[in-house]
Amino acid sequence: MNLANLLIRTAKVFPHNAAVAHGDRDLYDYRELARRAAVLAGKLHSHFGLEPGDRVALCMHNSVAYLEVLYAIWYAGMVAVPINYKLHPREVDFIVEDAAAALLFVDDSSADGGDAMGAGLTVVDCGSREYAALLSGPEVAPAPYQPGQLAWLFYTSGTTGKPKGVMLSHQNLLQMSLCYFADVDSVAATDSMLYAAPMSHGAGLYNFPHVMAGARHLVPESGGFQPDEILALSQRYGGISMFAAPTMVRRLVEYCAASGADSGGIKSVIYGGGPMYVEDIRQALAVMGKRFIQIYGQGESPMTITALSRHHIGDSAHPHYLARLGSVGRAQSAVEVQVVDAQGRELPAGECGEIIVRGGTVMAGYWRNPAASENTLRDGWLYTGDMGVFDGDGFLTLKDRSKDVIISGGSNIYPREVEEVLLLHPAVSEVSVVGRPSAEWGEDVIAFVVCRGAEAPTSEALDALCLAHIARFKRPKEYRIVASLPKNNYGKVLKTALRESLAVAG
Ligand code: AMP
Repeated sequence: MNLANLLIRTAKVFPHNAAVAHGDRDLYDYRELARRAAVLAGKLHSHFGLEPGDRVALCMHNSVAYLEVLYAIWYAGMVAVPINYKLHPREVDFIVEDAAAALLFVDDSSADGGDAMGAGLTVVDCGSREYAALLSGPEVAPAPYQPGQLAWLFYTSGTTGKPKGVMLSHQNLLQMSLCYFADVDSVAATDSMLYAAPMSHGAGLYNFPHVMAGARHLVPESGGFQPDEILALSQRYGGISMFAAPTMVRRLVEYCAASGADSGGIKSVIYGGGPMYVEDIRQALAVMGKRFIQIYGQGESPMTITALSRHHIGDSAHPHYLARLGSVGRAQSAVEVQVVDAQGRELPAGECGEIIVRGGTVMAGYWRNPAASENTLRDGWLYTGDMGVFDGDGFLTLKDRSKDVIISGGSNIYPREVEEVLLLHPAVSEVSVVGRPSAEWGEDVIAFVVCRGAEAPTSEALDALCLAHIARFKRPKEYRIVASLPKNNYGKVLKTALRESLAVAG
């Protein structure tokens, strides 16, 4: 089924529900959102001469035009290529060219298509008069649907090389959305989805369950993540859900703790995309209460590998509570998840191996990249590159990406385990552990530590903490106190950059 039908249905059932809001103003309802999308879809054909299957890119801030452009693309049977607006123009060029996009939507302040603008690409600024004119005219019906039809080329964050276009079909995204209801959260028509993280990725993917439920799509005026603004909007509307990277959760919690702000208007914070440390989620629960749900996914199985439910995150009386809190939860409903050895054989609970996934959300492959597709999709399974271990109850704990595992003296050391321990120190605010090549041991464990206040903990104090919690050989050889950790545009720590800094500095 074409995803455009989700919007068509909601526009019939809840025509006057607030659909899109900008800050504290409701802009238009579902009837109007569906009209705009259907009219714009017609213009993609009639004005720009595009055909079903053509790629249409968006390089826009989180904006009120985002959803109408996405749905117009699907109405027209075309493929959306959302690009993170924070990328460098050269990276935007790379994606636009790789996708062979025919049209690029930008907004006024990101109107930078780089060189690609000169390469026969049409660029439309959603803040322009030209764009406003595209929204008047006849509405068209959705293009005929072909099974397996592509909906979204999702470009990976490219922390290890050039980004690859993950081919996500309408069917993949529908299954992802059904899993939201089954494994993540319920949505009421009175709720609001607040877009604090880029709509080109996880936050934008979660538009579907909110369209299905007839909920409001709330774009903060800042277009991004400002804790004070989020709290003010939550008090204005109530029933707010948002997707947030763990670093955003920390900032939100710190803001609430410092200001004493009432977070009652925030219904759900769905976090994922990177490790959430046990100390951090405990702090979050203490300050904001049971508003948290974790998901583990990757572009190749978007938002949908496992989920740790609100219930399990709050079930502090359970004998395995802390272990569960450090896990990413159980397989979501549309997928099978296994942990396998290097030969692809399933491992029993308690043994660590690579996580593989099979099911309705798994991508068809990488766009025009058969070699990478074959390497990642084997015998119908998606090889995630993440290492993990199941417990006897089906809860999966992520170790690290296989390339981040440190091998020292022949033993595997999972950086996350060391990071969790160092974060127990009250003066440590953030930490990232990587391996540095060593002639003697293969690799040495090095910890980069960001401190909370001016006073840095001593190496002896950090050593003592490690010795109290983990095996001696896992203890870092060196602690480097740094002002901040390098992060990509999604807030993920760039371990590659940390390793490179060690190689340069020696
Ligand atoms: P991306 O495709 O850019 O969204 O990155 C996906 C990767 O982020 C996964 O393969 C994991 O390594 C990591 N990741 C996603 N969700 C989580 C989570 N809940 N906890 C820890 N790491 C995560």
